[in-house]
Formats: sequence, structure tokens, C-alpha cells
Amino acid sequence: MNKIRVRFAPSPTGPQHIGGIRTALYNYLFAKKNRGDFILRIEDTDQKRFVEGSQKYLLKAFEWLNIKPDEGINIGGKYGPYKQSERKDIYKKYIDILLKKDLAYYAFDTPQELDEMRKRLQEAKVAAPQYNAVSRMTMKNSLTLPKDEVEQKLNSGEKYVIRIKVPQKQSIKFKDEIRGWINIKTDVLDDKVLMKSDGMPTYHFANVVDDHLMKITHVIRGEEWLPSTPIHILLYKYFEWEEPVFAHLPLILKPDGVGKLSKRAADQAGFPVFPLNWIDPETKEKSEGFKESGYLPEAIINFLAMLGWSPGDNRELFTIDQLIKEFSLERINKAGVKFDIKKVNWFNQEYLKRKEPIIFVNYLKTKIPTAKEKYSDKLLEEICDLLKDRLIFLKDLISETKFFFKKPISYDKKLIKKLLNEDSIPTLMKIADAFDSLTFFEAPYIKEAFLKIIEDKELKLGKILPVLRLAITGLGSGPDLSKVIYILGKKESLERLDKFLDSYK
Ligand code: GLU
Repeated sequence: MNKIRVRFAPSPTGPQHIGGIRTALYNYLFAKKNRGDFILRIEDTDQKRFVEGSQKYLLKAFEWLNIKPDEGINIGGKYGPYKQSERKDIYKKYIDILLKKDLAYYAFDTPQELDEMRKRLQEAKVAAPQYNAVSRMTMKNSLTLPKDEVEQKLNSGEKYVIRIKVPQKQSIKFKDEIRGWINIKTDVLDDKVLMKSDGMPTYHFANVVDDHLMKITHVIRGEEWLPSTPIHILLYKYFEWEEPVFAHLPLILKPDGVGKLSKRAADQAGFPVFPLNWIDPETKEKSEGFKESGYLPEAIINFLAMLGWSPGDNRELFTIDQLIKEFSLERINKAGVKFDIKKVNWFNQEYLKRKEPIIFVNYLKTKIPTAKEKYSDKLLEEICDLLKDRLIFLKDLISETKFFFKKPISYDKKLIKKLLNEDSIPTLMKIADAFDSLTFFEAPYIKEAFLKIIEDKELKLGKILPVLRLAITGLGSGPDLSKVIYILGKKESLERLDKFLDSYK
């Protein structure tokens, strides 16, 4: 069997949307799973939509996510160049073949003439006016004009496009690996432009020629390209080339499941849609990326892998190597998938808590200047260990650990009202004494001392523990309090307790 070769073929029209990244990832996983090649090709034939910086942005996003193409732009390979604007001669050669075979033709219609044609067809109640087998015969092209007039127009440099000649009353049948067999009548297809008047090929033409020449075996791309596939199939047939396998990935939907996930929808819901920060070169509008928002690349990879694919059971956490092992086109679903930011956060949380302790400790040391003075590395590690399960982002460590570095200044009035009763202050005083007399100020002893007092006084744990927490941390909830007290140390804990007692005695 031929070596499996897949490609990701973005157009440089701005920052790559997370959906595009998913397409790249699925191609990458499929290639690696099958010991094939993953190719990165830039489809920049639409110069009107070109946005400066797009290519650099994509390469940076790949670098962040550790998606490594085997061949392509910036890497090179046997089948280059990998940027379509550098392949004009190649397209010229192949369009000449179609012209010669009479499967494509020159069209000289002006935009105004095309408009008039559409109007005419609309008036005649044609549902979807298009340039096709019927209407082409009323237009100015090499099928209707005398040969010498065509020659003369071409020689005089008159503007033209080259269109594909779609046959009438035929069916185009192809199999999509995800959607099954698809059958399209050629009568609904347009004589699509293959070469534009600026001498550049269109997406359809360049895409097919390149996929063939680059020996692409599987075309894995977003569902939005499904309507273009019949034209692509027709081109393969016209050239008598073997078609690749097609697989169209399900749409990524807004969180409510209504419509495609757009930048606007993501902005409204308050989450990113691009992998990295992006500043629009024209409007200077800034969009925040997943990276800069604090997401880990492995969390994004895992989340995207599950956004349309599933392993067939309820496992959710996969390293990239496990994904490569398990990935298959058969387990990609057809239906659109909702983008759930809570799920992304969950993945981030899962990956974050598996990080080495040193990452958390160093983060605290760089962000909180007093951290080093107040606590040893061992205690800082214990602080992080106590709280890391609560973090979605590393930056949350600052707010979550704040009470370790700052004594409570005041106490929430509502909490005081809710928690304080006639037993609170006398019990806290006893607890303070008990803590003071502890020789080993460690969590188990702290807990024991505290529980003993509650037991002796026949009080409920739930009545005293929250008050003690409030006194020590200034908060209504938090991690294991005996560990917190141990980390704070006897002196600091007693100071905090005394301050509270002073306020409410
Ligand atoms: N250039 C197209 C894009 O921007 C590629 C579509 C395809 O993969 O065929 O996504």
C-alpha cells in the first residue's frame, strides 16, 4: 500500500481558529498512527483575503501545541514548493491539459454581464442562477465565440477566467469516510472558475492539483468543504487521477448548539477561539489566545481530540502518544459538536494538577515577592499541594493561596452573623490554648487537639470548624484546615486567632 500522506492546507487569512487547529490535529494523529506523513501547505491563491502575519502565527501555534509537520512550508520536502503562490507554473501546465481536452474553457464575461445573466435567470424563476451547461451557451466564452475571436481576445490581453466544463445530467458519487456515500447531480453544480483573471488558480483547482502532485492519500478537512468535493471529484476524473479518501469533520457549534462557533459567539461567551494572542494588523483589535489565557497545550490537544472523536468508551484523558495509538477515522462522529468551555477548563485542571511541584513553587516565588521569606521551599510545596486541585489555571494559585501570605484584615459580616454563636468564642479560646501547648505543631496533632476540645464540650464539628477557619484564613471555605494551621505555624496561627478573639470577645 502507498504510504499514507495527509495535509493541512490553511489559507493565510488571519489567525487560525481553534476548529482549524482541530483539523490539523486529526491529520497529524492519523498520519502518526499510520506511520505516514503530515504535510503543511499554504493555500494563498486568494490575494484579496491575504492577511499579513497569518503564516507566522500558525507556525507559532503549532510550536506551542507541538504539532510537527513532516514536510511543508519552512521545513521543505520532495514535493515543494509548499506555498501555492510559488506554484503558478505548475497550475498553468495542468490547466492547459484541461483546455486541450475540452474540459475547461475561457470565459470573457465582465462582472456586469454576469450580473445581468443572474438577473435574467431570476426573472425566469430559475431557483439557483448559475453559470452552467445551459446558461454558458448564452455567455461570452470559448464555447460560444468563434475560434478566431477567442484567439484575438487572448492575444490582445483581454481579461478572462478559465471555467470547468461541468457535464449535464450526470451523477457524481463519492464516499466520505465519516458520512458514507454521497450522490450529487451535476445539474446543481456551477462551472466553477479554475483560473482567475489575475493568473492565479482558485482554491478548487490548486487544491486538487497539489493533493495529487503531493501524493495525498487522505483529505481530512472541515465539513464546510463538503459542498466543494463534487467539483474536486470531477477534476480527478477529468485528469484521470486516483481520488484520495475523503473525510469531512463535523462542525464545531456554539455552546448552545445553535450555529457554528464563531469568534463573535466566543467573545460573547467570554472565552478564546484562537490558540494564541492575535492583533489584527488593520483594526489593531486584540484577541486573547488560549495560551495567554492560561491553558496548557496538552489540555487543548486532549480537548480538541475529543471534540468530534471518541475512543469508544468513557476514557477522557489521553496523552498525545495514546491519541496516536487510538485514533481512527471510524470513530469520528457525523453530528456537529458543541464547544463547551467548561470541558476545556476541566482538562486544564486535570493536566495542571499533574504538573511537577516545582512549577507551582517557582510560580509562587516569582509572583509573590514575600513567599521566599515567609516559607521554606518545602512549605511552599505543601501549600501548592494543598490547593492545586482547586486551580483551573496556574494563575489561580495567587488568589487561592493569598491567605497564606496575608492575614485577614476584616471578616465578612454575613459570615460572622451566620457562624458565631455563644459557644464560638469560649471554644476558640480553648483551642488557642491547646495549640499553644502543642510540642509538635503538625497537622495530625493540631487536628487531635481541636477534636478533643469539641468532644469535651460536646459540640458539633460543623459549628466550630467554620469559625476557626474564618478566624485563621478569613474565608468561609478552603482546604484541610489542620494542614493550613500547620503550614502557617504556631506563632502566626495564634496571632490570627488572637486577632479574631480580640474583635469578637
Ligand atoms: N485552503 C482551505 C482552507 O483554508 C483548505 C481546505 C481543504 O483542506 O481542502 O481551509
